[in-house]
Amino acid sequence: MALDTSTLNQLLNTIERFVKDRLVPLEAQVSSEDRIPQEVIDEMKALGLFGLTIPEEYGGLGLNTEEECLAVRVLGHTSPAFRSVIGTNNGIGSQGLVMDGTEEQKARYLPGMASGEIIGSFALTEPDVGSDSGAVRTSARRDGDDFVLNGTKRYITNAPSAHLFTVFARTNPEESGARGVSAFLVDASTPGIELGVPDKKMGQKGAHVCDVIFNDCRDPASAIIGGLDNLNKGFGTAMKTLDRGRLHISALSVGCANRLIADALAFAMERRQFGEAIASFQLIQAMLADSKAEAYAADCMVMDAARRRDAGEKVSTLASCCKLFATEMVGRVADRALQIHGGAGYMEEYAVSRFYRDVRLFRIYEGTSQIQQTIIARNMIRDA
Ligand SMILES: Cc1cc2nc3c(=O)[nH]c(=O)nc-3n(C[C@H](O)[C@H](O)[C@H](O)COP(=O)(O)OP(=O)(O)OC[C@H]3O[C@@H](n4cnc5c(N)ncnc54)[C@H](O)[C@@H]3O)c2cc1C
Repeated sequence: MALDTSTLNQLLNTIERFVKDRLVPLEAQVSSEDRIPQEVIDEMKALGLFGLTIPEEYGGLGLNTEEECLAVRVLGHTSPAFRSVIGTNNGIGSQGLVMDGTEEQKARYLPGMASGEIIGSFALTEPDVGSDSGAVRTSARRDGDDFVLNGTKRYITNAPSAHLFTVFARTNPEESGARGVSAFLVDASTPGIELGVPDKKMGQKGAHVCDVIFNDCRDPASAIIGGLDNLNKGFGTAMKTLDRGRLHISALSVGCANRLIADALAFAMERRQFGEAIASFQLIQAMLADSKAEAYAADCMVMDAARRRDAGEKVSTLASCCKLFATEMVGRVADRALQIHGGAGYMEEYAVSRFYRDVRLFRIYEGTSQIQQTIIARNMIRDA
């Protein structure tokens, strides 16, 4: 554990109070306005939420994986859009730098990311490159001491507010697979970067994604994560980043499931039909019980995989098992929670319909459920 028990509990209690008193009451407003108020973002900064996983020497809280999962599970009790604002700085937008960056790169960017002054974004996906992420087409051509980037990145979380992109681009045109790709740190103000219009999403209103287009964008060779020694090795950085990111999304799924179960239980105990609270009907109880058991199973999986990662074990297979099970689980829990609400569950007035749309994304990004299945099976066959 990076933190002693009492400091960790204090942190978790503070986040819990912030979620309950400040964020939950704002959920409907954020969803209808598709915007998180700036003062809330400032409060997140003051609480240190942007730097949960950034090492202490760079101004963050330096949480290990288990502690990060505990914190994210608490954040899951409110709309995932709030988590998305701090998500990239704690996950895919910073961890490549934390794991593989040079000392100079870390000193330059991590303190600003920890405080929330710098928003980091992770740009891997492209219009024709999704699940087959090693097939990156964005090119980075060497020109003296610089590389010149050309290409389009798609669905990039927090891109509209980003100051720093981690961009995966092909530095070896002879190689069409993952081995010819490097990870670049690109300042958002660099000439040659254009942002698309924010995408209209089915859920997680308040969190924004858009295209990022590179037109002859010059980035110095020194901006390759880890320096020129890491030329053509960027895909390894992306995969290591995603191992931790998948545990983060799994913990978030558990948190959202717990919130949905709490909402469904409260509704079932309140709502009366046939002269009784619907919670007394065994068919309703079955939905509550299945949800509870599945959320508990996912929670145990996530915490076990997180502890193993902290102990130095390689957890690629387990991270994919967690992502597959936890994100599918929260989909089933959301569906049952909505069913328990009956017609009311279909109405905007109740949070459950919003969560139903919000959690759908978890099964898609950071590797779809099918990609998690292929990773798990591929590793099983390799190890046999
Ligand atoms: C809101 C949102 C935010 C995102 N944020 C980011 C971000 O910050 N950075 C970033 O780089 N990307 C981001 N993404 C992109 C996301 O990671 C991809 O959408 C995802 O990896 C799937 O790629 P795709 O959409 O191209 O689907 P495709 O790869 O085209 O997949 C389509 C379908 O085919 C299935 N499929 C594909 N290959 C196989 C296979 N081998 N076996 C079986 N089935 C297969 C998939 O599971 C899926 O069901 C985001 C996406 C969304 C929607």
